[in-house]
Amino acid sequence: MTTPDAPALPLRPELADEVPYGAPQLDVPVLLNVNENPYPPSDEVVATIAAHVADAARRLNRYPDRDFPALRADLADYLALESGVHLGAEQIWAANGSNEVMLHLLQAFGGPGRTALSFAPTYSMYPEYARDTHTRWVVGRRAEDFTVDPEHAVATIEAERPSVVLLASPNNPTGTALPQATVEAVLEAAARIPAVVVVDEAYAEFRRAGTPSALELLDRHPHLAVTRTMSKAFAAAGLRLGYLAASGALVDALRVVRLPYHLSAVTQATARAALAHRDSLLAQVADLRAQRDDLVAWLRQQVVAGRPLRVADTDANFVLFGTFADRHAVWQGLLDRGVLIRETGPEGWLRVSVGTPAETAAFKDALTDVIVEQEQ
Ligand SMILES: *Cc1c(COP(=O)(O)O)cnc(C)c1O
Repeated sequence: MTTPDAPALPLRPELADEVPYGAPQLDVPVLLNVNENPYPPSDEVVATIAAHVADAARRLNRYPDRDFPALRADLADYLALESGVHLGAEQIWAANGSNEVMLHLLQAFGGPGRTALSFAPTYSMYPEYARDTHTRWVVGRRAEDFTVDPEHAVATIEAERPSVVLLASPNNPTGTALPQATVEAVLEAAARIPAVVVVDEAYAEFRRAGTPSALELLDRHPHLAVTRTMSKAFAAAGLRLGYLAASGALVDALRVVRLPYHLSAVTQATARAALAHRDSLLAQVADLRAQRDDLVAWLRQQVVAGRPLRVADTDANFVLFGTFADRHAVWQGLLDRGVLIRETGPEGWLRVSVGTPAETAAFKDALTDVIVEQEQ
């Protein structure tokens, strides 16, 4: 209810027409819209997490460990196993989702009078971190196949002189992983500005064999930060735990801007229990990867308006496909059949996450149906 003479709120003018981040959260049988791992934790993992949380609860009158060295050491151990790159606990940082890690990065290295740069189409949250930290936001372009041309990247860095460069690899919403040579070209150009280069590897565990991780570049590039998350492959989106690997000096800068005690004792306990059960939580990743490759092949065989669908190469747990003259109608048609996917990416494209085999089958059936209906 508005009172007639209520004073106007002194909202920052640039926020006046903004709406909150909003992937629709709908109650639908098949949820393939936000790239979650479809497999919930096993009863055994649930029991371990509950025991660790109970332990933490006994000390809830106290603030948590501000610098969480035990969790950082566990994350370093996990990265060593996952990518063969050995890092010290002081090279790891964590927060409530890699979204918060990214905000810490912009708070420390962006700001008024500074510029953050990425290459579109890419993750829709990046411009929001820039807006919220009063950082100028600039995008270069990705090529027709959604890769980043190194010459264009270097030229854009030299022209715009950013203090932060954000590279998602594998990229969302396209699934594109960057070759190491592209990341290295960006790192070299960024060092001359100087700029921090953030490689967002939220989907790294889903990369195809032979695709490298930017973690391998850390020892030679103190201005590189590689972000990861437990939200996707790790099957723990509800936990809200994202993290980053970088030089100790870069991590120390983030410790300045974080809120005091930002990572709750409950979060730390849950994350450590989940990491101890990584084999169980990551058990389906190989299957999800294989299913993703099957889904890409299947989509490439579908014909719409006389042409085969276009499907982006993907190293993630989702597939971007199109193009449709009316993508919203296709999205709605799938929703009417109980399948929620994401209307995102360049005009005409849609993004679907890889689910369980039954969910993927439901998606294929629904899409076949929608295409037939539209061609009538
Ligand atoms: C999902 C996603 C993240 C992870 O976000 P969390 O806050 O860790 O859940 C980060 N970057 C990209 C590109 C993503 O798609």
